[in-house]
Amino acid sequence: MSQIETIYQHYLSNPVVCTDTRSISAGCLFFALKGENFDANTFAGEALKQGAAFAVIDNANYRINDKCLLVDDVLTTLQDLARYHRTQLHIPVIGLTGSNGKTTTKELINAVLAEKYNSFATKGNLNNHIGVPLSILSISADTEIAVIEMGANHQKEIEFLCTIAQPTHGMITNIGMAHLDGFGGFEGVKKGKAELFAYLKKTQGIAFVNRDNAYIMEMSTVAGLTSLVYYGKEGENTISGHLVKSDPLIELTWKKQNEDFNAKANLTGAYNFENILAAICIATFFELSPDQINKGLAGYYPNNNRSQLTKTATNTVICDFYNANPSSMTAALANISILEAKNKVAIIGDMFELGPETEKQHHEIAALAEKSGLHTVILIGKHFYLLKDQFSGLFFSTPKEAEAWLKENPITNSLVLLKGSRGMALEQLLPTL
Ligand code: ATP
Ligand code: MG
Repeated sequence: MSQIETIYQHYLSNPVVCTDTRSISAGCLFFALKGENFDANTFAGEALKQGAAFAVIDNANYRINDKCLLVDDVLTTLQDLARYHRTQLHIPVIGLTGSNGKTTTKELINAVLAEKYNSFATKGNLNNHIGVPLSILSISADTEIAVIEMGANHQKEIEFLCTIAQPTHGMITNIGMAHLDGFGGFEGVKKGKAELFAYLKKTQGIAFVNRDNAYIMEMSTVAGLTSLVYYGKEGENTISGHLVKSDPLIELTWKKQNEDFNAKANLTGAYNFENILAAICIATFFELSPDQINKGLAGYYPNNNRSQLTKTATNTVICDFYNANPSSMTAALANISILEAKNKVAIIGDMFELGPETEKQHHEIAALAEKSGLHTVILIGKHFYLLKDQFSGLFFSTPKEAEAWLKENPITNSLVLLKGSRGMALEQLLPTL
């Protein structure tokens, strides 16, 4: 038996993997991963004391007893174990990547598929080289279908994640101005995301393609994909649809063959239309009825600070502060500019990981915000702050300074967009709204 097979036997006897001693569950397999500031080998003893059945370590100095399984590299072992587990699961796995909307689309797909299947989806945003293996290892033997989010900020990452998730089906939500730095510009983003299509081509998988997105259409052709299922507004699609309303929540019509249906979702933002249509297309492909699909969509309420409409004591806030990049910021500003409200306010924070494009992209967003017809625009962060003499609006170099101003000058009876990169942590402003 290989070392992975031995570890897999331990995993099967209690299929729970832990990587943090603060959340050990009894009988779990503890993986002693390394972070920037820690080496979890040093916590292996603690993990066992807390009830872990075994600790996978890669430093012999911490092998305190035979419950410590010494491997060459803990991270590689976690990934290999996930890869092995995936081969034991004979189910469809839908791999999702793209610049924006992965988590939202993943949640929508899962909410709908759950109307018919025992479905699984990546928890939260566990979409990287650690998150994807952890997600795969969370798929139980009785799961019938899984949706796995795959994120990337450099080339070859999606290719690698595909070897773990082994998607049988896949979808690229869109291509946008995200992680430009790591990918090497926009063309680099396309190339990096196309690795999912290349994998599907190699394995005869099926891709769900948004006919309205010229980049994705082009990428599916370049990849030579032949098993394609289309969705979009017009054309020969499995599912066609139209946005009816997005103020403040979305309503749409969709068509399957010649039958029309109406659907509602508890999401704001016209940009979510394509995410919803993708979920409808995938669910139709997996033979859910229109009733099941519409019920699943209507039953999904975001609670993850993405496109989430929240009423505070004095305002309605579009909580979209989970992250931001130029594409999603543009979409969010376009959305608030068409919503009906007497007072509209955008509080926007710096966008990270843009490399040499940083200055230009912040300039474009500040210009867009200025002409979006909003009552107040508040721009926060050191990149926006550099533009304070070029645009109208209130500029603050840190969220703390903005918070102090908001306490002195409370915003009331307004519709407020709150959005910035994760590192800006703009949720800290929510209590002042
Ligand atoms: P991450 O890279 O952090 O995992 P993600 O791709 O999972 O992001 P979400 O978390 O679903 O994306 O959404 C992040 C933000 O992107 C949303 O809050 C919204 O502003 C924007 N967004 C969502 N869908 C789209 C879309 N189809 N087009 C443009 N922007 C979108
Ligand atoms: Mg995500």
